[in-house]
Amino acid sequence: MKSLHSIVKKITDEAVGEYKKQMEKQKDCSICGNKIDVHINGWTDGHNAEPVNKGRCCSNCNSRVVLPARIIEMQQIMQRGNKNG
Ligand SMILES: [Zn+2]
Repeated sequence: MKSLHSIVKKITDEAVGEYKKQMEKQKDCSICGNKIDVHINGWTDGHNAEPVNKGRCCSNCNSRVVLPARIIEMQQIMQRGNKNG
């Protein structure tokens, strides 16, 4: 019969192993360099960082940097279009 200690150790090892696997899957944000947050469904790729750069970024940078940059880019495209038209 297994001792309580070995059962607890097995459960702990498994939990730590899962956690480490999850940490290894995490990628670096191409904008701020922090780890990209892993979604509850296991998605680890975060958000598309374009037009800021061609990499991936965390939710924080997506809402603070990438989305405003896209709006500015869109406004510039529209202004250019107006001048040409
Ligand atoms: Zn970031």
